Amino acid sequence: MNPNPNIPRVAIVGAGPAGLMAALIAARAGERVVVFEKLPEPGVRLLATGGGHCNFTNTLATDDFVRRFDAKRRFVAPAIKALNANRLRLFFEELGVASHSPDGFHVLPVSDSARSVRDALLQACRKLHVEFRFNGRVANLQIDRGHVTGILTSHGTEPAARVVLAAGGASYPNLGGGESGFRLARLAGHTIMPLCPALVPLVARETWPAALAGVTLPRVAVSLACQGEARVAGAAHAAGATHTTATGSLLFTHQGISGPAVLDVSGRVSSALMTRKAVSVMIDLVPDRMIETWQAHIERLRKEHGAKTVLSVLASILPAALAKVVLEHVDVPVATGVARLSREQSRKLIMAIKHLPLTITATEGFGKAMVTKGGIDLAEVCPRTLESKRVRGLFFAGEILDVDGPCGGFNLQWAFSSGFLAAQNLMV
Ligand SMILES: Cc1cc2nc3c(=O)[nH]c(=O)nc-3n(C[C@H](O)[C@H](O)[C@H](O)COP(=O)(O)OP(=O)(O)OC[C@H]3O[C@@H](n4cnc5c(N)ncnc54)[C@H](O)[C@@H]3O)c2cc1C
Repeated sequence: MNPNPNIPRVAIVGAGPAGLMAALIAARAGERVVVFEKLPEPGVRLLATGGGHCNFTNTLATDDFVRRFDAKRRFVAPAIKALNANRLRLFFEELGVASHSPDGFHVLPVSDSARSVRDALLQACRKLHVEFRFNGRVANLQIDRGHVTGILTSHGTEPAARVVLAAGGASYPNLGGGESGFRLARLAGHTIMPLCPALVPLVARETWPAALAGVTLPRVAVSLACQGEARVAGAAHAAGATHTTATGSLLFTHQGISGPAVLDVSGRVSSALMTRKAVSVMIDLVPDRMIETWQAHIERLRKEHGAKTVLSVLASILPAALAKVVLEHVDVPVATGVARLSREQSRKLIMAIKHLPLTITATEGFGKAMVTKGGIDLAEVCPRTLESKRVRGLFFAGEILDVDGPCGGFNLQWAFSSGFLAAQNLMV
């Protein structure tokens, strides 16, 4: 059934996951919905997610999922609880997109295709007569006495009783990223928290990572020491310098380091680089083996296999090229026999394995950042409805808000959940 032409329209700015979800939920509630998208087609960034496979959520229980948003967890909780991972999977299943979790954590469509997710949303919207205006960049919002009344595009003004601003972030400009959404929010009177790239590869001052470009370490812990940062692997830290740590795989690149463990700390590194020239990170090359275990291991080797070289010992747990870097770092010749290692050398060696330092001077920028850190100040948005506290009838969803999650489906779940919650609260 066509929506009643006499009811005022809902305008959605941006046809990414947040905007498409908001459009569909509003249309299901009987609203007349029109979506403005500056690109010629919807969900262009969605198509690129998870290497085209779309890791749209994960298997964490809702409370654990929410906790991974750290300081923003209170803000994201109402949206994630309104549409949690299980309900999102069910929602897609009802649209014909079944999902699975081959590794027990990441959740992907069984089709293995982001396109199937995008197309299912689009088709469902079209069935409910959602109108799409592609190549429809929104240039401003119309606001009258504190109420949103419409939007302005290059083709003129469009009246709207409600607007959902779901214009995404600044990352990947070739996939629709940019600052135009933030500009619209600023014009409406909102504060934009400083923007910087997150989930982004890091650039190192040292040249040795480039020599290892392409080498992956399946499990390391990456941490950074920053004054004023407030967490150690989820736990509050005592006064002084504190650390942020992420565990997972690491990839050496021509410029420095990447991979999930690096991406997960990259947002904090990126913020720190806004006020400093360099940030130190430490890599624990074998996080599951404690310092004491290493000491005992080397003692045993000293007694039982003293003739073995330290290089061969290290190369049994690390790629040989990296083992050489570690030995160079502690100034131990590669041919040194384990029995000949001095106590001081073995102490230094263990410290290098557990805390290999790297100096980060930059990120690879918005062009390579999966998400944007910063955005619309959360203090100016009601978390239960996602309506602006400044302009009645103006709602926000997705990455345009000052919310960014780690790798692993957190950001898409946030986009879908926030689009869902905003749409549920649009009705007059
Ligand atoms: C390469 C890559 C891989 C990723 N992989 C994953 C993954 O596997 N899992 C995960 O959870 N997250 C992933 N992400 C992050 C995820 O894509 C984002 O979190 C998500 O797309 C944000 O959704 P959104 O709807 O808020 O914004 P977007 O998807 O950016 O959509 C916003 C839309 O608004 C449009 N727009 C902007 N300004 C205007 C305007 N003025 N007028 C009209 N339209 C406008 C844009 O063109 C865009 O289409 C990945 C990101 C990238 C770049």
